[in-house]
Amino acid sequence: MSQDTDWRDHPLGDMPDDVLRDELRSMAEWAADYRSTLRGRAISPSVTPGEITRQLGALPEQPAPMDEILRDLDRVVLPGLVHWGHPSFLGYFGSTSNGPALLGEIAAAALNVSAMTWKTSPAATEMETVVLRWIAEAVGIPETFSGIVYDTASVAVTHALAAARERAAPGSRERGVASALADAGGATLRVYASEQAHSSAEKAMIMLGLGERNVVRVEPDASLRMSAASLAAAMTRDANAGMRALAVIATAGTTSSASVDELPEIADLCRERGVWLHVDAAYGGAIGLLPEQRDLLRGMELADSIVINPHKWLFVPLDFSALYIRHPALLRSVFTLVPEYLSGDAMPAGDENGPARADVDYMDYGIQLGRRFRALKAWMVLRAFGRAGLESRIREHCRLAALFASWIEEDAFFALAAPPQMAVVCFRALAQHADGARSDALNVRIAERVNATGEAYVTHTRLHGRTCLRVGIGNVATTEDDVRGVWDCVQRESRAARDEIGRVNAAAKASHGVRSP
Ligand code: PLP
Repeated sequence: MSQDTDWRDHPLGDMPDDVLRDELRSMAEWAADYRSTLRGRAISPSVTPGEITRQLGALPEQPAPMDEILRDLDRVVLPGLVHWGHPSFLGYFGSTSNGPALLGEIAAAALNVSAMTWKTSPAATEMETVVLRWIAEAVGIPETFSGIVYDTASVAVTHALAAARERAAPGSRERGVASALADAGGATLRVYASEQAHSSAEKAMIMLGLGERNVVRVEPDASLRMSAASLAAAMTRDANAGMRALAVIATAGTTSSASVDELPEIADLCRERGVWLHVDAAYGGAIGLLPEQRDLLRGMELADSIVINPHKWLFVPLDFSALYIRHPALLRSVFTLVPEYLSGDAMPAGDENGPARADVDYMDYGIQLGRRFRALKAWMVLRAFGRAGLESRIREHCRLAALFASWIEEDAFFALAAPPQMAVVCFRALAQHADGARSDALNVRIAERVNATGEAYVTHTRLHGRTCLRVGIGNVATTEDDVRGVWDCVQRESRAARDEIGRVNAAAKASHGVRSP
């Protein structure tokens, strides 16, 4: 780092340009070093809660030199991170940075513009529209949908259900939910989703004042898909009890096993009953890039709203979630609000300002006013990889997942816990064990042991009432060797966990035996 003491002696203004130039070079080296040394790092930290807080200390009264700050980044912060970008991190859905994305983030940070209205940053707004259309075309979402970028899928589904709520109980925005619901007949509004669907359904209902209990979880079939028949039965049961269906959330790529609900049949059912269909393709939407697998998403195009998270499997780093909606005017009617101080930069009141127009004011389509230039990093990634590059990376991840699944099938100690789907594999150790609770504990212990090695990272989940292990491949840096390394680690730690539990049980039996008369 350069000598930057001079500028710090003046308590006004910013770091001078020449100092910044040097610091940026050093930071670029830092970021490149971090990425090139990732494979050698322990993925998960061994820190105790509060350890980092103590080291971060209090707000310093006096300016600190950048080299000292960056030393602390290495000394205090890095050892306290889970390195999600590590090629052997196979937990959750991989959300990984990459070269073009990192460059896009730097550019967005330098610009720091706000895409709240078209006038406040025309290029940021138009790029958002263009990038959304590129993604839609790549995965097969028709032009009848309009897009908007939010931070997360949880926020996207909340906005989609806010539009659905306005349709079901007009005036919710203006008079509040209780009054609008009373005028709409007073029936309780229900949302239906598979037991395998993401918990963001409940979060959205909490936010919308409709109650988390009014999310009805439908039992999926043996392949973990929500069928239209079970959904219809749940809706009919509620209708007979005087409740109304607000929306159905069908999932294309569930969090645990990437299963896909019966989309075409569910779409037909929703159309027949006049119910809003939201498709959660937060993870699975990306599979639309593969012509040979696009059929998995068939029916998605019949939805009222769709969410896709490019920050899951389209290689755009956190956060970037795309909501596609068939009724943008309805969404706008729920959220548009132009205070006087913004009116000079907003479209004139009454102007038809749909996202089909280049000069859309995206602030009108959500709760957020200030909006980060998220589209820039996505634009850089999509351009730098190209559609073909996205396709080949996603296909490779599916190949690696299928390979991992084949290794499980060859090892009698393990069994698949669900059909492998997309780039997710769920499996269990000692699956045939008669004592379910004991094999659950074993699987939890295996994940703990694997993650404690720092060599690999896996998660566990529950399927068919049993705990299982899960890997998800989504990092552009992950190679076959990395996946093989994770498998070796899982095999080794599984046997060690079994022996460890065996020793504990034997000791417990022995001590019980000593005490017995
Ligand atoms: N939907 C699915 C299927 C998910 O797996 C997740 C998170 O993993 C979400 C929604 C929520 O995503 P976000 O973190 O963007 O809110």
